[in-house]
Amino acid sequence: MVLAGGLGGSRLALALAETIDPGELTIVGNVGDDVEILGLHVSPDLDTILYTLTGRLDEAKGWGRAGETWNTLETVAELGGESWFRLGDFDLGVHLVRTEALRRGEPLSAVTARIARALGLEPTLLPATDERLRTWLATPAGELPFQEWFVARGHRDGVDGVRFEGGEAARPAPGVIEALEAADLIAIAPSNPFVSVGPILAVAGIREALEGRAVPAVAVSPLIGGEAVRGPAGRMLAHLRGGTGPQHVTDCYKGLIDALVIDEADADAEAGVRTIVTRTLMEDAEGRRRVAEAVLESVAALR
Ligand code: GDP
Ligand code: CA
Repeated sequence: MVLAGGLGGSRLALALAETIDPGELTIVGNVGDDVEILGLHVSPDLDTILYTLTGRLDEAKGWGRAGETWNTLETVAELGGESWFRLGDFDLGVHLVRTEALRRGEPLSAVTARIARALGLEPTLLPATDERLRTWLATPAGELPFQEWFVARGHRDGVDGVRFEGGEAARPAPGVIEALEAADLIAIAPSNPFVSVGPILAVAGIREALEGRAVPAVAVSPLIGGEAVRGPAGRMLAHLRGGTGPQHVTDCYKGLIDALVIDEADADAEAGVRTIVTRTLMEDAEGRRRVAEAVLESVAALR
């Protein structure tokens, strides 16, 4: 099983799905980024996983759907509606179906499974929780909800702390703990440790299940040469953990991992845990295969 945010999460999930029997893979996704836009419930990280693993992702952007059009959003903007959060026409169909189901009382995990089946997703995709969990960032400009910080303000504000509203009360979605307990290997994707993996671990019982694991757990570092491939992870690690080496990634996962997959460019730095060194960029099938094999090798190495 793999714990996953959006881009880094879906890249590792795809890498594993291309390497093992995809039906044997369970992906637990982050919902701390979820947001209501124009009355619609948007789950950006779950959707990035859905789109990536069914060949629908806009790879250049790293989010949203390939071949997207923006007619609806243009109309919204014309009418003075909320248009800062980019919702494309294809994408909106998913949000409409999800929102209608949630309003009827269907749990997020159930509607996610329905959408996944309809789109042809082979692995099991579970939201970390069905309950409301929202990431907030403490910044010099005040505390900001995740998407206001990330999208509206382009994650330019420095982050002094992260809070998960609803985290303590949120119970794991059906199947999450069972999957953790039944897994042969637990992988933490190269997702942002603070705002993508953090909210998953904040759900009551998930961190404990990981701490009590009977099988190897391995994380893939989001850093290559001390820098994030994309997004604010590097800056956040520097500010919140004091640096951007493998050790600072390990520090985010104390007691939760037995090994860290790192890039060749970071191989000389201390990691504080067993490392598996490879090239970790997953921009093509070859890169994904390398990383998946490194992750899977850790099972044999750690047994
Ligand atoms: P988001 O939810 O879309 O922001 O994405 P995630 O949190 O899942 O992933 C973002 C992180 O993934 C960033 O810190 C990137 O450095 C990392 N990342 C993205 N692509 C790759 C990749 O190909 N290899 C590695 N090692 N990290 C990656
Ligand atoms: Ca995200």
